[in-house]
Amino acid sequence: MYQPTNTHILVPEFEYERPETLDQVFSLLEEHGATARLIAGGTDILVQMKLERAAPACLISLDRVEELGGIADDDGLVIGATTAIRDLAACEPVRRGHAALVEACRSFSTTAISVMGTLGGNLCNASPAADTAPPLLVFDASAILVSRQGERRLPLEAFFTGPGETALGEGELLRAVHLAEPAPGTASAFLKVARVEADIAKVNAAVALTRDGRQVAQVAIALGAVAPVPMRARRAEASLAGRVFDSAALAEATQLVEEEIASITDVRATAEYRNHASGVIVRDALTTAWRRAGGGEPQ
Ligand SMILES: Cc1cc2nc3c(=O)[nH]c(=O)nc-3n(C[C@H](O)[C@H](O)[C@H](O)COP(=O)(O)OP(=O)(O)OC[C@H]3O[C@@H](n4cnc5c(N)ncnc54)[C@H](O)[C@@H]3O)c2cc1C
Repeated sequence: MYQPTNTHILVPEFEYERPETLDQVFSLLEEHGATARLIAGGTDILVQMKLERAAPACLISLDRVEELGGIADDDGLVIGATTAIRDLAACEPVRRGHAALVEACRSFSTTAISVMGTLGGNLCNASPAADTAPPLLVFDASAILVSRQGERRLPLEAFFTGPGETALGEGELLRAVHLAEPAPGTASAFLKVARVEADIAKVNAAVALTRDGRQVAQVAIALGAVAPVPMRARRAEASLAGRVFDSAALAEATQLVEEEIASITDVRATAEYRNHASGVIVRDALTTAWRRAGGGEPQ
C-alpha cells in the first residue's frame, strides 16, 4: 500500500540541472522561478521531497559551481557554501582558530551524511538544531550572499529569521561564510546532546572565550534547538564578561542561559529536559574552553 511518508521513495518527477557557474545558476533561477530549488548535498532537500513536504519542478545542483567551493585565507577564513561537513571537520586552518566548528562537524551524523552534507545546506535549511550554527554564531561569522545584483554581507545572527526561514531574497544564494581571526588567548568548544551519537541535536551549544589572567575578557555563548532560531545567550555572556572565572560565575551564567532560552517540547525532547541540558552543556563547554585557553580548573 502507498505510504506518503515512506522515505525510500522519491515520488515527484523533476528536472535536474547541473550548472558550472554562478551566472548559469542565476539564469536557471530566473527561468524556473519559485518552482525550482537549489540542491547542494541533498541530505535535507531530498528527505523533504520524499516526505512530500517539497515538490520542486526543478532541482538546480550547486556541486559543480567552483565559485561556491573551497576554503580561502582572506582576512580570516572564507568557507565556500558547498564545503562538505566532512572536509570542514578535517580542515587544519579551521581547527587552529575555530575548534568549536570542527567539533560540531565531527558530531555530525554518519560518514555518508557528512560527506554529502554541506555547510551552506546546513545553514540554508535553517533548522533551529543545525550543528554548524552555534559555533559560527560565537565567532560572529558573516554570511556572504550573492545574486545577479551582486554580493552583500550579513551577520549570521540576522541570516536566520525563523524555523526553515532565512534572509535570502529571491534569486539569492549563500556563497560563503566569513570567519574573522579570533583574538589572542581565545579558545572555544562545542557540545551536543542527541538521542544516539550521530543524530540531530536535542540541544547543542558552542562557546568562545578570551582569557585575561584569571578573568574572562570576552565570551560568546550560542545554543541550538532551544528557540525558533539558533541564538546567542547575551545575558549569560554579559554576566561572565570581565569576571573571575570561578564556580559562582559559572553557576550564574548557567542559570541565565536557562532563563534566556525558549525551549519547546517536540519529538526529540521536552522543554524541561532542554532547559536543564542547556545549562549543563554550556557549563561544560565554558569549562573546556577555559582550560583550552590555559586557565586550568575553575576555582
Ligand atoms: C540521517 C541524517 C542525519 C543528519 N544529521 C545531522 C546532524 O547531525 N547535524 C545537523 O546539523 N544536520 C544533520 N542532518 C541534516 C543535513 O544533513 C544537514 O543540514 C546538511 O548540512 C545539509 O546540507 P546539504 O548540502 O545536504 O543540503 P541540501 O539538502 O542540498 O539543501 C538544504 C537546503 O538549503 C538550500 N541550499 C543549499 N545550499 C544553498 C546555498 N548555497 N544557497 C542557498 N540555498 C542553499 C537548499 O535549497 C535546501 O533548501 C542530517 C540529515 C540526515 C538525513
